[in-house]
Amino acid sequence: MHVELISVTPDAERLIERAARTCYDTTDRMSSSDTSTFLEKLFNAGHLSVFEHASATFRIAGVSRACSHQLVRHRLASYSQRSQRYVAEKEASYVVPPRVEQGGKALSDTFRSAMEASWSAYAELIRLGIPREDARYVLPNACTTELVMSANFREWLHILKQRLARDAQWEIREMCGLIYEKLREIAPSVFGLIARESPKNH
Ligand SMILES: Cc1cc2nc3c(=O)[nH]c(=O)nc-3n(C[C@H](O)[C@H](O)[C@H](O)COP(=O)(O)OP(=O)(O)OC[C@H]3O[C@@H](n4cnc5c(N)ncnc54)[C@H](O)[C@@H]3O)c2cc1C
Repeated sequence: MHVELISVTPDAERLIERAARTCYDTTDRMSSSDTSTFLEKLFNAGHLSVFEHASATFRIAGVSRACSHQLVRHRLASYSQRSQRYVAEKEASYVVPPRVEQGGKALSDTFRSAMEASWSAYAELIRLGIPREDARYVLPNACTTELVMSANFREWLHILKQRLARDAQWEIREMCGLIYEKLREIAPSVFGLIARESPKNH
């Protein structure tokens, strides 16, 4: 799994403060204010639209399509994902869940033979003249993918809160953990507002 921050709004926290202070006509306090405390007050008051002024874009690679399928349910983000219509899945590339990997030889052999059967059927369908857009139907959810994803900070806060929860699915949780670390480095006063170990969703 690879998560790379490829773009972020410069001076994001000050921009959010600037936008929020416009509401209260207090932009003159920018030079002397404690941005972190101010942003925390906004967050606790539910004044969340101001967090939409900053955004971040990530390149995410080596996650499964099972993971990306969950990710794209977040409708307020933007996505560009490697196509299985235009790009051939030449080599077997898939994610093995830790419970399978660490569950002993019988489990991991069963999993790997299913993967090999899928890719071998895919290659055979292509060889027989079936277009990629149809041949891909035999590929598994475990198949790796790559995507670029952009969202504003309000949406990242929302996504991270949901997907870092203890009951979130392990792969999306791991991926969001990496995104969270990078966003916390860039904007600690914003992303420090949510905890890594969020409570359960349900
Ligand atoms: C633990 C877990 C289990 C899940 N299990 C399932 C499952 O079994 N089946 C399944 O189908 N999904 C499942 N989901 C996905 C879930 O139902 C959501 O689709 C997904 O988490 C995206 O959340 P969202 O809609 O809040 O987020 P976003 O799409 O990121 O939206 C952010 C927020 O914007 C607002 N919003 C966005 N669009 C609208 C709209 N059209 N109308 C009103 N408000 C809107 C809402 O306040 C929303 O919370 C699961 C999610 C989790 C975390």
